[in-house]
Amino acid sequence: MALAAVLALAGCGRLIPDSTPRPGPWSPPPGPVAPGPSVYVAPGASVVDQPIGGETFGRLRRVTQSLAQCEAELAAARVTFTPTPDRMNSPTCGLTAAGVLGPDFGTAARMTPGDVTMTCALAAAVSLWRRQSLEPAAREILGSDVVAIEHMGVYACRGVRNDSGETARVSAHSRAAALDFSGVRLRDGRRITVAGDWGGDSAEARFLRRIRDDGCRVFGTVLSPDYNAAHRDHLHLEAESGRLCR
Ligand SMILES: [Zn+2]
Repeated sequence: MALAAVLALAGCGRLIPDSTPRPGPWSPPPGPVAPGPSVYVAPGASVVDQPIGGETFGRLRRVTQSLAQCEAELAAARVTFTPTPDRMNSPTCGLTAAGVLGPDFGTAARMTPGDVTMTCALAAAVSLWRRQSLEPAAREILGSDVVAIEHMGVYACRGVRNDSGETARVSAHSRAAALDFSGVRLRDGRRITVAGDWGGDSAEARFLRRIRDDGCRVFGTVLSPDYNAAHRDHLHLEAESGRLCR
């Protein structure tokens, strides 16, 4: 994909609270809902439980192409995901194959705020990243468990933001396909933030760079403070193709 197209998928800024539905010109036509495919049973362990490696991104892409299989992968990993109806809020902004990511019962850490609406593909990528990178890296580098994963939201009907403002290009946030991660709280009380701990060579900085680097093998696009000033306080984690990591 051309760099311009990749950049069109990225960007961060003001987000729409999940609890605030926006009226839009389009609504699903009335009529019976078509029956869904039969329940898919994932062979062996869920993708969420497989260690990060060179195959991770491609494997995630394959098992999340179908919403039914994506839901089965999350269910097999005891990650709560409740599908929501597809909807469009504008011609360039809406939800497809999305749902509410609730608690991960395989781990203690909770998303803050919780119950975040996102695509199933993003929910699977976030769940894999937290179990295979964020949580073990905190134990290894910081010596404590993550109890809260703090973020600035997912769904926002807007264009890509760069250092000079908002552009006309549609952000992945307009498809609920990117999470803006801002930091973690640990069981020992410490709070690690991208805004405050990115620079230098402290354990906190090494933790943040580790989870950014791991994220590059999980997500299609990862943008950090190394990318531009618009990302000085968060990691933009986007579960679409692109393969841009900085
Ligand atoms: Zn973002």
